[in-house]
Amino acid sequence: MSRIAYVNGRYCRHSEAAVSIDDRAFVFGDGVYEVCEVRGGALIDEDRHLARLARSLGLVRIAAPLTEPALRRVLREVVARNRVRDGLVYCQISRGAARRDFGFPSDAKPGIVITAKALDPRLNEERAAQGVKVVTAPDERWAHPHIKSLQLLPNVLAKQSAREAGAYETWFVDNAGFVTEGASSNAWIVTAQGRLVTHPLDGVILPGVTRATLIEVAAALGVVVEERAFALEEAFEAREALMSSATTVALPVVAIDGRPVGDGRPGTTARGLRSRFHDIAQRA
Ligand code: PLP
Repeated sequence: MSRIAYVNGRYCRHSEAAVSIDDRAFVFGDGVYEVCEVRGGALIDEDRHLARLARSLGLVRIAAPLTEPALRRVLREVVARNRVRDGLVYCQISRGAARRDFGFPSDAKPGIVITAKALDPRLNEERAAQGVKVVTAPDERWAHPHIKSLQLLPNVLAKQSAREAGAYETWFVDNAGFVTEGASSNAWIVTAQGRLVTHPLDGVILPGVTRATLIEVAAALGVVVEERAFALEEAFEAREALMSSATTVALPVVAIDGRPVGDGRPGTTARGLRSRFHDIAQRA
């Protein structure tokens, strides 16, 4: 079955989908995006993803190409046309196509592309059962990682360095030695006292939708959450570590830079958060 994309108002096969070479997403990475989990055919935490998309668009001053109800309809239509039961739906919005010039074009219409892909949920479960390894790299991104922008070159390079090191994710570490977040995930540790710690939303990390829901899951489980920066040294000493994203939900981290976390196996807090996540996340 060929995959179907929504491209600037039309549904088309991926093999026939095209955007202009003048599209500013292609030329400048001038755009923003969202990725939403699809589970059992339902969109998970859609409201939070759409709220973040609206915030990202506002911060980079791109007009929404569709009304919110229309966008919700198209997201569902793309999921349905691709027969995705479990997987992801991806939406990217660019400032549109215009003659190359750094300043905003006066006449371009925002461009929109929506795709969906199926993922085998068993792979994620196997990964969670084993736990994953992370490596670290200096956080050399721009000063606004809270905007979900298409400019992901540092994240691409960081993910590749993880792969080449036999790890699943790279955690960025700032100049002061604090872990900010992963290349495509938020970073967490569990302290010896059982407190769950993750970087605060002070602009230098992406406000993860999964992060927000996990804070609610933690409250339901009676786990105390501290939104504060933690140093890499503290992570090395942590009882547990985990990463979170719409693609992975909560994934136990069992090694950081080759050093085992806790006893080197997925911890009970991470497993508890993962198993309760979909009871608390919104399904629509
Ligand atoms: N941080 C970064 C840099 C990301 O790219 C992502 C997801 O792609 C996340 C965190 C996790 O965000 P969410 O839970 O909304 O998927």
